[in-house]
Amino acid sequence: MKDETKIIVSGRHPERHQGIVNPPIVRASTVMAGSMDEWDARKKIRATDVPGMYYGRHGTPTTQSLEEAVAELDGAYRAHVYPSGLAACVTAILSTVGSGDHLLITDSAYEPVRRFTQGYLARMGVTATFYDPRIGAGIAELIRPQTRAIYLESPGSHTMEVQDIPAIVDVARRHGIKTIVDNTWATPLYFKPIAHGVDLAVQAATKYIVGHSDAMLGLVSANRESWPALRDVTHDLGQIAGPDDAYLGHRGLRTMHVRLQRHWENGMRLAEWLQARPEVERVIHPGLPGDAGHALWRRDFTGASGLFSVVFKPVANEAFRNFVDSLELFHIGGSWGGYESLVLPIAPAASRSVTTWDAKGPALRFHVGLEDISDLIDDVAQGMKMLAGAPAKPKRAFT
Ligand SMILES: *Cc1c(COP(=O)(O)O)cnc(C)c1O
Repeated sequence: MKDETKIIVSGRHPERHQGIVNPPIVRASTVMAGSMDEWDARKKIRATDVPGMYYGRHGTPTTQSLEEAVAELDGAYRAHVYPSGLAACVTAILSTVGSGDHLLITDSAYEPVRRFTQGYLARMGVTATFYDPRIGAGIAELIRPQTRAIYLESPGSHTMEVQDIPAIVDVARRHGIKTIVDNTWATPLYFKPIAHGVDLAVQAATKYIVGHSDAMLGLVSANRESWPALRDVTHDLGQIAGPDDAYLGHRGLRTMHVRLQRHWENGMRLAEWLQARPEVERVIHPGLPGDAGHALWRRDFTGASGLFSVVFKPVANEAFRNFVDSLELFHIGGSWGGYESLVLPIAPAASRSVTTWDAKGPALRFHVGLEDISDLIDDVAQGMKMLAGAPAKPKRAFT
């Protein structure tokens, strides 16, 4: 089955719900047993992975339906839901390292994961080394006897470096080291971590899977060898997503392939347009020929999402702020992957250990939504008059 069909049929069980297309939103804590035998059988669910219901914290038909669908798309053994993408990232890491262990983590990692590594993990006695996302097979030189895991994010969600995942996985496998990839940018549709030998694939499902900016959700997909440790630490930490959010993830997933196609097309068109503008120093989008990550992207990915970054030529701070403020269709906000266009001012230099960010001008991350592309381009074009010193428009506020 092709992914575009899998995304429709996987994880659905109308035979369990009187023929209803979608899984019900099941609210559950207690799951009752009618007999001691039944109770004994239910208790085994947790320890042995047999499907079924034991306690709300261990899943319901709503969460399990989403997990099953995403595991299938990822080509994984199993997947687990989390209440946020960050919870998914850190639980995946905690399933691989403990006191005395060493973690290699990309310098381009999502900032809160970097913070977790430098704060919480350090307090737990896990040492970490940041590595240059362009390191490839050179990662071998950073491996120590205590190294247990390598944490990748590709492309980096601010700076868009594409990593040579097969080369890094090859080194990791030879040393018995686990690999974790934050695959939020590509989704399981445009990159297949597990098929590339990665052990754990993370999705901030808040982004493209939910797709409508109305829920927080995370998922980790695991191969067979990595699943027991992931399952156990997930249960030990009491991690589960609520039924409404899991349902929204399930609903969003069913149209993700159609939405992503449009995010990709719109994103490429705006990136190409921006690249030709005199105000722009550099567009960082792996889909652009000439981008540093383009060759690896072409080799390993089957598409691009709507997220990329732009470095502007040096300009007065006031003019740049007026430019961003003047945009009518791109509002300023964290997160991405929803239907709406967004921009985010970025300053990567502050969160780097082993790589440098040498841009002299200001930088913006664009998330290109599902609007008409000519409207989006017109919006950025009118805003660019501010970069040339046009008078600011009245300031807007949503409060
Ligand atoms: C947003 C994001 C996360 C965290 O997801 P939340 O659902 O916001 O907690 C993790 N990784 C990447 C790359 C992200 O963009």
